[in-house]
Amino acid sequence: MSNERQKPIIGKVIISGSLCCKTGLHIGSSKNNLEIGGLDSPVVRDPISREPYIPGSSLRGKLRSLFERQQGLEFNRYSVQNVYRHECIDKSCPVCRLFGATGSKEGENQPARLSVRDVRLTSESRKILETIDTGLQYTELKFENALDRITASANPRQIERVPAGAEFGFEMVYTVETEDKQQVTKDLQNVLGLLNMLQDDSLGGHGSRGYGKVAVSFTKEAPAILIRKTGYYTGQDKKQNEKMIAVETLDQALADVPEIVQFLSLE
Ligand SMILES: [Zn+2]
Repeated sequence: MSNERQKPIIGKVIISGSLCCKTGLHIGSSKNNLEIGGLDSPVVRDPISREPYIPGSSLRGKLRSLFERQQGLEFNRYSVQNVYRHECIDKSCPVCRLFGATGSKEGENQPARLSVRDVRLTSESRKILETIDTGLQYTELKFENALDRITASANPRQIERVPAGAEFGFEMVYTVETEDKQQVTKDLQNVLGLLNMLQDDSLGGHGSRGYGKVAVSFTKEAPAILIRKTGYYTGQDKKQNEKMIAVETLDQALADVPEIVQFLSLE
């Protein structure tokens, strides 16, 4: 049985853009009960800079779950984090191809072709948020009330969130390890399509109450898509092994998938 992990890397496709919060964003961190006056529901922060950020695993997990639901796949795994998810060893499964799966036997593992880096505030956003005095670093507090249906008593709580308007820069890397042009085309269409769908879904907690609406965009100045063939990394002619594509929208990025595939000179 062929081992998927030993397929040679042909190149990398790096997608970089920004996620703009259209509504407040709450990516929860564990509550510190010992902290006096601590928030009921704090956001996750970088332990050193104390800046709120979106862990790559949160964005990646959201995209995976959207993809699982889009494909109507069975939630057959129950993870340690007490969530049901889909994972299989079917080599043709579009979800496990991109996001990886652990098999029960050796050789069954599917490596993840897509990695998502931690998503940080853009420097411009950081500057703006620094000027807003909410008493918290870069965030705001939203008070929510849960009404007891019997006694009608209110049960107020505070949820910390990154305010609407904040912008984060994201980067995801798709590893090309098949010569199959159609497969790479499909994978890239799936990745970009998931970012597209995310805009009509939500990121982080309390999505059904309006939190976490994000818009994906790219800047015309920076390459939204960077294609690097392995020769780029080994010091061969960089121009020949690297291509930058600047787009402004996801639709444009999707339209450029054939150009990406062509540059990779797949069969
Ligand atoms: Zn699967």
